[in-house]
Amino acid sequence: MKKKDIDWQNLGFSYIQTDQRYVSNFKDGAWDEGVLTSDANVVINECAGVLQYCQACFEGLKAYTTEDGKIVTFRPDLNAQRMVDSAARLVMPEFPVERFVDAVTQVVKANAEYVPPYGSGATLYLRPYMFGSSAVIGVKPADEFQFRLFATPVGPYFKGGAKPITIRVCDFDRAAPHGTGHIKAGLNYAMSLYAIMDAHNQGFDENMYLDAATHTKVEETGGANFIFVTKDNKVVTPKSDSILPSITRRSLMHVAKEYLGLEVEEREVCFDEVKDFAECGLCGTAAVISPVGKIDDHGKEILLPSGMEEMGPITKKLYDTLTGIQMGKIEAPKGWIHVIE
Ligand SMILES: *Cc1c(COP(=O)(O)O)cnc(C)c1O
Repeated sequence: MKKKDIDWQNLGFSYIQTDQRYVSNFKDGAWDEGVLTSDANVVINECAGVLQYCQACFEGLKAYTTEDGKIVTFRPDLNAQRMVDSAARLVMPEFPVERFVDAVTQVVKANAEYVPPYGSGATLYLRPYMFGSSAVIGVKPADEFQFRLFATPVGPYFKGGAKPITIRVCDFDRAAPHGTGHIKAGLNYAMSLYAIMDAHNQGFDENMYLDAATHTKVEETGGANFIFVTKDNKVVTPKSDSILPSITRRSLMHVAKEYLGLEVEEREVCFDEVKDFAECGLCGTAAVISPVGKIDDHGKEILLPSGMEEMGPITKKLYDTLTGIQMGKIEAPKGWIHVIE
């Protein structure tokens, strides 16, 4: 197939408008059948629920080309289910899982010329989202909603290899106990912008958030879950009701256990334990795993034994195995790879 004339290697992570996006509207208690449209603009009332009270949630996944030339997405049903859960917590209607996966398929097919070729490291990032579209001035949920899904090509996350990053323990909180930390709501990001700009201004790549109630337990960063590796090669990930259940992290834990035969633990992780871990990584769709080399706790530095030059050995195995599964080089568990065409 003919591809767009794009310098895939040098794409960054910013919005590039593509040809078609999917739109469905919820009105009078039901979703309409949904259409693809070339119109990239959203027109809503000035008093729409999303604009006044932030009634919105989103997802993120990517379409890419495998080694044998197929265009696929990775576990889109889990994104669909997570959006159902996010919507329920924000008093928005469920967009059915099958319809979500169908919207993914339609948008990727319609923008197939933007799916980067195999080996470029670039992907077509997909952004499904839903928001309250009808006017709301008293505090209550909207009664009309819009679901949209657009695609934008993004570059390789790591240009020239994955270099370990430096993060800091953050004094701001990301998510309250019994709040909205476990759903993918834009509001969780709005309140983290100040903290991430502050971290960047002080020379750190990311914030490590601790549990808001006690500031003793590790939660996650603004947009990625943690995995740690112990000195005896156990893979540990924090358990908390206010962590967003990352699909990448869940997949990596499966890979650790079933493909690499490692012991895995999902449990509370005290910040005090972190100094004893051998490796640390951040997991999310964009990078799969970003290795962490250094954690700054108010001027006290924790240097992971894996260092600042490369990924730790277990992190690297996890990364290579999951990306191998995604790219069709290693056999995937049933249902993980959704073939578009
Ligand atoms: C999206 C997100 C992640 C990563 O989830 P994936 O499903 O792996 O992409 C982690 N933490 C937060 C807060 C997120 O919003």
